[in-house]
Amino acid sequence: MATFGNLTDRLADTFKNLRGKGKLSPADIDGTVREIRRALLDADVALDVVKEFTGKVRERALSDEVSKALNPAQQVVQIVNEELVGILGGEQRRLRFAKTAPTVIMLAGLQGAGKTTLAGKLAKWLAGEGHTPLLVAADLQRPNAVTQLQVVGEQAGAQVFAPEPGNGVGNPVKVAKDSIRFAKDKQYDVVIVDTAGRLGVDAELMKQAGDIRKAVDPDEVLFVIDAMIGQDAVATAKAFQDGVDFTGVVLTKLDGDSRGGAALSVASVTGRPIIFASTGERLEDFEPFHPERMASRILD
Ligand code: GDP
Repeated sequence: MATFGNLTDRLADTFKNLRGKGKLSPADIDGTVREIRRALLDADVALDVVKEFTGKVRERALSDEVSKALNPAQQVVQIVNEELVGILGGEQRRLRFAKTAPTVIMLAGLQGAGKTTLAGKLAKWLAGEGHTPLLVAADLQRPNAVTQLQVVGEQAGAQVFAPEPGNGVGNPVKVAKDSIRFAKDKQYDVVIVDTAGRLGVDAELMKQAGDIRKAVDPDEVLFVIDAMIGQDAVATAKAFQDGVDFTGVVLTKLDGDSRGGAALSVASVTGRPIIFASTGERLEDFEPFHPERMASRILD
């Protein structure tokens, strides 16, 4: 994966040095842990996450688990892999559906994070799984957001619920609320509510997102975050956690070539699982997130 190319190369070099050795001395392990630490920091993984990660790796690498292993170097790689799966959330967490339809999924995140694109991707994916999704245009901030969602909806083959002119225009909370009634009447079983973003976190945006959340009582609130955001990822994620208390994370733009480590910190820092990954602009560039697969790709 392009985003983690550099991290992958750095870790591979670190492990290559280790493989040349038979038994590992504490100095070997400290050297390795130091290199891993630098590689993660250079990839923009948040400092607290790096500290905790390297602390765990060091402790385990110095234990009997490694000194008694037939191949200590391989054992260290295995530990790094397991701890990486840990920061990425451990087990795969699937999208949660409501017991009684419709399931309501609300999308939140900064402008440009990829929410509207994700709405289309989710709709297409859900339709492929046998669902009948309804897209809801509750981003009434950007002049062309509604049109953009309509274009995406058409590509995904999904219906879009948008405010009628003169009725609820400018009131995203009302639009969101009305959409749930509409979905029940027309038997859509999943409602995907696209909300407005801003270029930076602001109080008004959070209040609006919080009000929409209250109005639609979602089964999932997905925080959409651009993997290219860099070190702001953690602060942004925390602000959205306080503002909308999201239930899961979607990483977007994992196809980009910038360092994506900051986004990798989000699950660990917020305690919320990454549920989907978006890897391009096309609607099919999207997949459920698997911590184990992602860790293997990074360590490839
Ligand atoms: P929103 O403001 O959060 O609704 O963001 P948009 O859905 O409008 O996306 C912003 C831009 O990012 C658009 O040009 C999208 O085509 C692009 N985009 C969205 N997801 C991805 C992705 O996974 N990879 C890449 N390369 N571009 C993406």
